[in-house]
Amino acid sequence: MKCTLILFGILMSMTINWTECLKLAEPCIPAVCKLPNCKCSTTESGSAIPTSKIPQIVMLTFDDAVTGITYDYFSKSLFGRKNPDGCPVAATHFLSHEYTDYSKVHDLWLRGHEIALHSVTHAAIQDYWQQINLTTFKAEFDDMRQIVMHFAGIPKSDIRGTRLPFLQTSGNVSFQGLKELGLVYDSSLPTIRYVGSPLWPYTLEYASHQDCMIEPCPTASFPNVWEVPMTMWLDEKNVSCSMVDACTNIPKQAEPLSKWIIKQFERHYNNSRAPFPVFMHAAWFLRNPEYFKAYKLFIDHLQSLPDVYLVSVNRAIEWVKNPKSLDVKKPFGECEVRVPTASCAPRNCGLKTITGEERWISSCVKVCPDKYPWIYNPLGK
Ligand SMILES: [Zn+2]
Repeated sequence: MKCTLILFGILMSMTINWTECLKLAEPCIPAVCKLPNCKCSTTESGSAIPTSKIPQIVMLTFDDAVTGITYDYFSKSLFGRKNPDGCPVAATHFLSHEYTDYSKVHDLWLRGHEIALHSVTHAAIQDYWQQINLTTFKAEFDDMRQIVMHFAGIPKSDIRGTRLPFLQTSGNVSFQGLKELGLVYDSSLPTIRYVGSPLWPYTLEYASHQDCMIEPCPTASFPNVWEVPMTMWLDEKNVSCSMVDACTNIPKQAEPLSKWIIKQFERHYNNSRAPFPVFMHAAWFLRNPEYFKAYKLFIDHLQSLPDVYLVSVNRAIEWVKNPKSLDVKKPFGECEVRVPTASCAPRNCGLKTITGEERWISSCVKVCPDKYPWIYNPLGK
């Protein structure tokens, strides 16, 4: 009824917001909202597996461009490492367009890393993301997906997640956009309320219990859309930080710094084993060489534990949907095998952005685009 009135209102004035037509999310009842396609926002895995038999998932994610410099950090810290099931360790890269080297992105994907979306423009204006309309939102993420598919040779079905620049969603508009683009999950919503007893990933079909730290948050019902909460870390003065590089009061030497990271990890490992987020920008490593040493020491520590798995965010969601105990030989199923559709011989192209600045784009495409790929012209035609 309300919607009919609103549609009438649109005809009358064209000023009414269509998102008010969306169905509001109702309280979540676990007996109704069941796995694999529905999960309430709770601190439990939703499975009957005893905690000691739940694999501890660690999600390593990196935001922004993949460049030659960041790729080196990924190769030195992660390549060649295996999970207890013998499958390669993988990170998730929330990719923005400018400065990204798509031949390196292709290489990461081939190695089992997940490539997810962080927008084309990464516009440095928080209001832009907060007030974005549905059309622009979809262009930011669909065009970025097309760029990744075309220039890095990655199939559409492997691109499943989003993280908003500055973690600034536009509430229902962003999540409606995500749903209409056929994406599976978002990971942009920080939580301080659940630091001590971490939330598991959940779907947005029903109302979330998560605190809303950056307004607006989704209030409508989005079936089959997953949220992977950004459970905050606490620095040494107990100040919370949603990304590792935002934690300020931290040790500056590798050894104590890795111990501090392990302390964050243990809040998950010694609790319900909700997936542990290690969310950062690789630029953090450039600030201090000790930070990268600490990161590697932390990964070494995780690899000494037989029940810890470093998997992509997408694989983490797949486990939550179909949980399997540590007693199973491969609790995450078979290893992902990535078969390239075409070989990627890197090609460098010098192009001018719409503001006339020079940018190099390295990609798997043999012929240089005519124009610098951008929102509304993702293939640079
Ligand atoms: Zn960013």
